[in-house]
Amino acid sequence: MQCALGLSQHEQEVNSTGNTFATRFLYTVCPSIYYKKKPDYFHDILKGLANDLCKLYHTGIRAGGKQVFFPVCLGVKGDWPWLAKAGKILRHFNRQSSHGICHLCLAGKTDTPWEDLVSRQPFWLSTVSAEAPWREAGELLAIPHCNITEHSFYKIDLFHTWKVGVGQEFVASCIIVAIENNYFTSQAIAAGMDEAWSDFHTWCRTHHKSPHMSSFTRNTLGFESNTDYPQGSWHGSDTILLVRWLKDILPLRRNINEEVPGYMVLGCESILLFLDTLYRSPLWLEPDIAKHVCEAGFLFLHSYTCLANICYSLGVCRFATKPKLHMFHHFLISLNEAVVAGHTSILNPLCFNCEADEDFVGRCSRISRKTATATKVLRTLQRYLINCKTHWASNRSSEAAAVQASHMCFNTVWLV
Ligand SMILES: [Zn+2]
Repeated sequence: MQCALGLSQHEQEVNSTGNTFATRFLYTVCPSIYYKKKPDYFHDILKGLANDLCKLYHTGIRAGGKQVFFPVCLGVKGDWPWLAKAGKILRHFNRQSSHGICHLCLAGKTDTPWEDLVSRQPFWLSTVSAEAPWREAGELLAIPHCNITEHSFYKIDLFHTWKVGVGQEFVASCIIVAIENNYFTSQAIAAGMDEAWSDFHTWCRTHHKSPHMSSFTRNTLGFESNTDYPQGSWHGSDTILLVRWLKDILPLRRNINEEVPGYMVLGCESILLFLDTLYRSPLWLEPDIAKHVCEAGFLFLHSYTCLANICYSLGVCRFATKPKLHMFHHFLISLNEAVVAGHTSILNPLCFNCEADEDFVGRCSRISRKTATATKVLRTLQRYLINCKTHWASNRSSEAAAVQASHMCFNTVWLV
């Protein structure tokens, strides 16, 4: 679980900086051996969590003996497979297309295409919230929420949608297309990958960046044969480094007035503008900023769609069109709707990001791996609490800061 607001004492920031032991809350620990054997365990845990959050919502938390704070759960976030499992969602990326590919709308069902990725008024928009995406609602919907938009209680996460989704497909395709089109000395794929990696590595050293990955291979680029659509498999933060590198090198080596290079550079520039603006912004976006972000996002979708169409017409498998593009489209449509509706403050969608939560889960997992099997659950929770005390204490050095933090932390709660 996490609160909406970050630790800043000066303005309302997205809760994405600082040690995650001080910004996230662990609810429970359950070894996978239990819930893999008995899936009901997983749903029983969610039921317990929902009950606890219902109690918090109704009775609140007393702080300092006087003030009572009532946490309000704004949504549930996680990667797409987890959301599908927790929400018992039947329309998702892994379903047959006739069932629909999106829990928010009927896109993907017969007569409701989702591939129109550039329209501000796509056909599927009229089907948003038209039909429940589950036969039986998940346990977490017992938490008090807005019934009108209960589909969107399960949030879209930009990290899993773009950095480890669309972005990896975009970057991997750009690299393969660059190798095949004489951006590097060698047109042979293996030699071209080595040369591209050497170039990227030099760029990282020049810009004082440290990627997690260590080479370009057919495996990391998801390109075992020419009939595969390239799909990167690397750390999400590397996707951004790769886009910055491509933005710098592509215009140097080919005329960007040519169609494919032009769209690749436009895609890099627009998505960097989109992400950099969002990451620099506080929790609430001014309408002009939100509009700016939205335009950059649509420009990226336009570039990607053009590249996919050109490659399709040439008969080559590059720039795959996958359901995560539809979720990114949802992301932009929601932002655009808030701007058009004239909202004066628009919630920064990065507050639903799972990037820091991945770090938090990793830290807790590392603790659990260092404990004895027989006492794993208890010891992990105990050591988590020790880490909490350490990092909460270092983040809140004065009583005044502690009071302010308690305001910030218990105004809103999100689930991870
Ligand atoms: Zn949809």
